Amino acid sequence: MSVTSPSAVRRLGWALLLRCPNCGGAAALRHWFAPRERCPSCRFRYDRGEADSWIGGFQINLIVSELLFAALFVALFLAQWPRPDWAGLQRIAIIGVVVAPVVTWPWGKLLWLVIDLAVRPARTSDLAE
Ligand SMILES: [Zn+2]
Repeated sequence: MSVTSPSAVRRLGWALLLRCPNCGGAAALRHWFAPRERCPSCRFRYDRGEADSWIGGFQINLIVSELLFAALFVALFLAQWPRPDWAGLQRIAIIGVVVAPVVTWPWGKLLWLVIDLAVRPARTSDLAE
């Protein structure tokens, strides 16, 4: 089996579609909270054989989800200017910081894999059984 090397932009597109960031040939998730162990198409191991491989994904998830939440919060604040509903914004803030990381969870992990593959391209051992 050969090791492919698509561009980072192509990998990013696949990750945004929740496809394998190595080949784009198959869905990377069994369901929303369960990534596959390997890509059914190219056999790429999503954990790359490292027990702590998902720490970067959690960090990306936190950054992306909180930035999206902050953008929404600022947009709502500006839409209500000059008399923002502080109590309503506070309720939205509490819900947003809880819901946003859950909604963006799979993308955090896959975006981390895109970065990881850009820095450390797929090795033959990533594709081995
Ligand atoms: Zn694949």
